[in-house]
Order: sequence, then structure tokens, then C-alpha cells
Amino acid sequence: MNKTERVYNFSAGPSMLPLEVMERAAEELTNYNGCGMSVMEMSHRSKEFEEIIHTAESNLREIMNIPDNYKVLFIQGGGTLQFSMVPLNLLRKSKKADYIVTGTWAKKAAAEAKKFGEVNIVASSEKDVFTYIPEVKKEDFTPDADYVHITLNNTIYGTRYPYIPDTGDIPLVADLSSCILSDEVDVSKFGLIYAGAQKNIGPAGVVLVIIREDLIGFAPNDTPVYLNYKTHADNDSLYNTPPTFAIYMAGEVFKHLKKLGGIPAMEKINRKKAAMLYDYIDSSSLYRCPVEKKSRSLMNVVFVTGKEELDKKFIKEAKAAGLHNLGGHRSIGGMRASIYNAMPIEGVETLIKFMKKFEAENK
Ligand code: PMP
Repeated sequence: MNKTERVYNFSAGPSMLPLEVMERAAEELTNYNGCGMSVMEMSHRSKEFEEIIHTAESNLREIMNIPDNYKVLFIQGGGTLQFSMVPLNLLRKSKKADYIVTGTWAKKAAAEAKKFGEVNIVASSEKDVFTYIPEVKKEDFTPDADYVHITLNNTIYGTRYPYIPDTGDIPLVADLSSCILSDEVDVSKFGLIYAGAQKNIGPAGVVLVIIREDLIGFAPNDTPVYLNYKTHADNDSLYNTPPTFAIYMAGEVFKHLKKLGGIPAMEKINRKKAAMLYDYIDSSSLYRCPVEKKSRSLMNVVFVTGKEELDKKFIKEAKAAGLHNLGGHRSIGGMRASIYNAMPIEGVETLIKFMKKFEAENK
């Protein structure tokens, strides 16, 4: 393969980024905007970088329609650190939190919260191998819970909430790591949203936190300074050196998405890609999607042949055909096609063509 040739990369994350964004980054890699240095070499206190981070935030606010009473924070530590920061900062009155367990990441988030307070698992689909999203009603939540936590899209199991739970006055906290910017989400329904960058936002190294202002400022006094949302909110994410290059790349992805027509345009393309793939799987006699129809993810399409050996053969032959990273998560096996925003329709068409050929050859 020569240097300019690229594969269709179905990785669950880090994953494909828009080619146009990476080409632009390459062009200005050693000299950003005529300033004679790379963004990587630039002080985070420089005028140039301040402009980069402010533009990134204002474009994100516009794209996601983020209300003025929410802060946007760029933090390090990935989704995993948010599993700890959420309870540390938000268990502020009763020290109780409700969690809905819909997969590995939700389970990890709940386990972390247990270190800080009382955790109630309000619903779980674990005994059915997380193949669906449980229905939860307002009455199911603990009346004095400090917050309710959900994982909106479950990267490993390929599920997505078909609805936003009504938690009444209890703040809803959601992990959007694998679906942010893929479809329209009403931010005002949430107290806090977090999302690691390495799927739909940019390279790994930065996590976005969108937090309603009235939830800031309740962390215990002995909270490590970096782990307090107030630190980041009071300093416009510049308390210490932020992951500057990752923020610059995220900013370029936001500009690109805006140019494409924003989230409504992106959602249309994502729905088309996912429908093509699920329709084919449902019509096939070789492949099967274990996920209940109404809980299916737009981003992570999970499927199996039912035979482990055949799954392995599929993954190997797909790779040889330029379709990379189609193996399911190491914990569940099978196949998973992650078709995030940057995966072009042609990538999904090529995958379906390959799947048909493989089906014909392996009847
Ligand atoms: N939440 C979700 C939904 C994820 O998919 C992942 C990782 N893929 C995480 C959290 C953990 O994120 P990180 O690796 O950035 O800590």
C-alpha cells in the first residue's frame, strides 16, 4: 500500500477522522496560519491558541445548540476519568445516584460511583447480554437521587437509547462518547453530558464536558484541583496546559461538520448508512444482528455468523479486502462495524458488497 492509499477503518475508537480535516492539519502542521510554528509548539496562553479554543467552543455551541446556562469544558483523562469526576462533583446532597446499566462502560461508571456514595441500579439488561435498552419510567428513580446516569450509546453491544428517560427534577447525566454529534440531542434535557473525543470529535486526549451551571461548585473541599469541574469552568479550560493539538483538531472537525450542514445533515447520512447495513443483515441468511430492533445503534453495528471460526475468517478476509477493524470487542467477539460520522457511505457500500460475496462463498 502506498502512503496516500487509505483503508476503510471500522474501528470503534480511535476511529476514522474526516480526510479533509486531516489534510488541512497536515498542510498547517509545521506552520499554523503563518505564525511560524506548529499548534503543537504553541503556548496555550498565546493569542493564536486562545482563538483556537474559543472558536472550537463557539462552533460546538452552535452545532449542538447548547443553552447559555451550560459550560463547555475540555478536560483530559478520557471517558474513564468522567466515571469518577461525575460522582465526586455531583453527589452533593443525598449522596445517592441512580444508574441504568446497559453495557460495560455503564457498569464501569456505576462501579466507580460506588466509591463515593450509594448507587442504585435502576435497570439493567445484563442478563440478556445487553441486547436491548430497558424502558424506565419517572417513578423508577430514587426520589432524592442526586443524579441519574445513562450511557446513551453502548459502543461494545451496539445499542442506543431510543428515548431520553424522563427523570423529572433529577439531573440526567449521560455518556455520549460514541454518539455525540451523530444525531440531534436536546442538551437542555441533561444536567451533564460527557464524551471522549476519539470517535466523532477528534484524536484521543481530550474529553468534552457540557455541564449545567447550577451543578458546578459542590465538590468536597479536599477534591484534587484537577478533578473539580469548577476549576475548569472558572478558567475556561485553561487552568493548566490542556491537550492543545487535540483541541485544535476537534475545532477543525466542528468547522467541517458545520460546513456539511450541521447535525441534521449528518444524522440523515448516518441513518442512511445504518439502515443500509441493518437491512442487509436482516435479509441475509448468514449474518444476524443480536440487538433488538428499536435499540439499535446508528454508530456501532454488531453482527455474527453464529460460528466463531467463520467470524474469524470473515474478519481476516475483510481486512485483506481493505475493510479494517471489523472484529467485535475482545469481551464479546463476533463482528462490529463502527460507522461514525467520518465513515463515508461508500465505505458501508463496500462492506455490504464484501459481506454478500462472503455469504455466497460460505453457504
Ligand atoms: N464510554 C464509552 C461509551 C466508551 O465507548 C468508552 C471507550 N470506548 C469509554 C467510555 C471509555 O473512554 P476512555 O477510553 O476515553 O476512557
